[in-house]
Amino acid sequence: MRLIFEQIRSGGDRNFGYLLADRDAKQGVLIDPSYAPDLFVQRAADQDITVTHVINTHSHPDHINGNEVALGRTGAPLAAHESAPTSPAVRLTDGQELRVGSLRLQFLHVPGHCPDHVVIYEPSYRLLITGDLLFVGKVGGTRTDEDARTEWDSLQRLVDAIPADATVWPGHDYGARPSSTMALELTTNPFLLCANVDAFLQLKADWPVVKQRLGLR
Ligand SMILES: [Zn+2]
Repeated sequence: MRLIFEQIRSGGDRNFGYLLADRDAKQGVLIDPSYAPDLFVQRAADQDITVTHVINTHSHPDHINGNEVALGRTGAPLAAHESAPTSPAVRLTDGQELRVGSLRLQFLHVPGHCPDHVVIYEPSYRLLITGDLLFVGKVGGTRTDEDARTEWDSLQRLVDAIPADATVWPGHDYGARPSSTMALELTTNPFLLCANVDAFLQLKADWPVVKQRLGLR
């Protein structure tokens, strides 16, 4: 298998989407092709890739607003968590694996930022597409303490399930770099360095001040 893996800046709020494909099998997927769906479809077409699925990490508007065009132009089904309000044709469940050519796309259901959030892990290349759960240097926003606790549990699951040398590909360019590794996040991301959920909740509450002190964007 030869890998195609493109991180695409689609616009919006520094949004990232992805083209992930097996060049030999000529099959691939578009992940969160929002704001600029034509660009994603074109990148696949330019490389003679048939899009087998349009995948959403979660159903927030800035991740799904390109669905209609991407689905219409590719004829591919939408794949998203079974609880997503977008009526996905392929209803993903926790632990499910999708084969696309020789790629193995493994889905983990990781609620907190959004109830239908999934991350996508490809074990051959150790690629982790994290959506808005885990960014470079921070984590996804939550509205309530209950959601924040759920997000903490999801993050702990990620830490347990994903190898440290996996690369991390987020849904927004919110960090000092556009991508990371699990090892780097485990040792530098203040939210992953929290000793427990209470420290995590406190950091979330203090974040606007901490962020300013650290000079983050
Ligand atoms: Zn979101």
